[in-house]
Amino acid sequence: MPKNNATNTMDKIVSLAKRRGFVFQSSEIYGGLNSCWDYGPLGVELKNNIEKMWWDEMTLRPDIVGLDASILMHPRVWEASGHVASFTDPMIDCKQCKMRFKADDLPPDKLEAKQCPHCGTKGSLTDARNFNLMFKTFMGPLEDDAAVTYLRPETAQGIYVNYQNVATVSRLKVPFGIAQVGKAFRNEITPGNFIFRTREFTQMEMQFFVKPGEDETWFEYWKEQRWNFYLKLGINPDKLRFSDHGPNDLAHYAKAATDVEYEFPFGWKELEGVHNRTDFDLTRHQEFSGKSLLYFDDANKERYLPYIIETSAGLNRTMLTVMIDAYWEDTEHDRIVLKLHPRLAPVKAVICPLVKKDGLPEIAHQIEDDLRPHFPVIYDQQSSIGKRYYRQDEAGTPYGITVDHQSQEDKTVTLRDRDTLAQERLPITALVDEIKKRMNDA
Ligand code: ATP
Repeated sequence: MPKNNATNTMDKIVSLAKRRGFVFQSSEIYGGLNSCWDYGPLGVELKNNIEKMWWDEMTLRPDIVGLDASILMHPRVWEASGHVASFTDPMIDCKQCKMRFKADDLPPDKLEAKQCPHCGTKGSLTDARNFNLMFKTFMGPLEDDAAVTYLRPETAQGIYVNYQNVATVSRLKVPFGIAQVGKAFRNEITPGNFIFRTREFTQMEMQFFVKPGEDETWFEYWKEQRWNFYLKLGINPDKLRFSDHGPNDLAHYAKAATDVEYEFPFGWKELEGVHNRTDFDLTRHQEFSGKSLLYFDDANKERYLPYIIETSAGLNRTMLTVMIDAYWEDTEHDRIVLKLHPRLAPVKAVICPLVKKDGLPEIAHQIEDDLRPHFPVIYDQQSSIGKRYYRQDEAGTPYGITVDHQSQEDKTVTLRDRDTLAQERLPITALVDEIKKRMNDA
């Protein structure tokens, strides 16, 4: 069967990710572990760069501070949050081919006829059974009910239960926000599409505490901020859209919600959720913990439970988006390029001596040493200059520096631009400033 384009594009991304060391299958030598991935040398840099941009975007402002809460929390947290009772997906199995589906993913006609969309057998689907997505585990040596706890399925709850601590020590007044980046775990029924949906992933969440009545204005504000963030990552705006949740798809905690969606090769899918969670979470934690979570507004001498506007993004999913969006087959020059925004590129410049002799490697190594304190660079003298640049184009490296015989005479080199292929000759001493300038202007 010919492969459709979606599979093709994803296959190409997965293959590039592996070839260049962005992402490897987890436990590969044991045959791999379904839906688990390891980030290689370039992948971890790209992921860190995205995380850093998000962190700076959130915390380099006076009204938001950071937090790093633990993954394991008191089990009552998950009762209060509603996850124990209702963080479930309805799951359906095919008795014939044993495929498993999320009921929400099946078309209504197939559900009606209980027909498996995979093997086609009619009447082979089971009834939907609710399956809780939280990973259960045990604290301490006793594997009994009293020791049950969960790997957090979202980072948000760590922020809610700490909100008073954070407000007090930071002397922040409503409106203010708390940002957190950390791992979350969901026992997804149908993980897939590479790093798009996995059972272990990293969330970048910011919870913004506002006065009730001001929530709608702040919701709109954060919608716009989050849209702009994806533009700063260099993502093509034509591939982005908002998808507002209608009254029937709103989560139990939300008054308003929108998803920032990207057009992946497998369709429009959520990148990030922006939610108006009202005072649902604080009310519940107050009730379950028996502790007052009221906020005292000094200026107006009033007490209230703040409303919360949440922005919740997935780091791995953002990285996949950035890679897909940057993937470019430059047929004119017969090369594959990751047109990553220079700020995100794992390596900023490659330094290549034209030949491995005549003193050129020494000059190139000196340049490497001079540039490295300013940004990540690599040195490459392996194979032809064309092949070296090809490798770096795929890795997304925006600048290439070639040291040639003229460099010995006049201490100049050529600086190559990954996207335009334009080459400029400039003094070695001007490299740092020029590359910094280009990165800033990008
Ligand atoms: P979906 O509908 O895709 O399952 P969700 O609505 O459950 O997502 P949220 O609970 O709003 O997602 O989580 C916020 C963000 O966390 C998502 O927009 C996504 O970027 C990321 N995320 C959620 N689940 C996963 C997962 N299984 N793998 C990778 N990222 C995820």
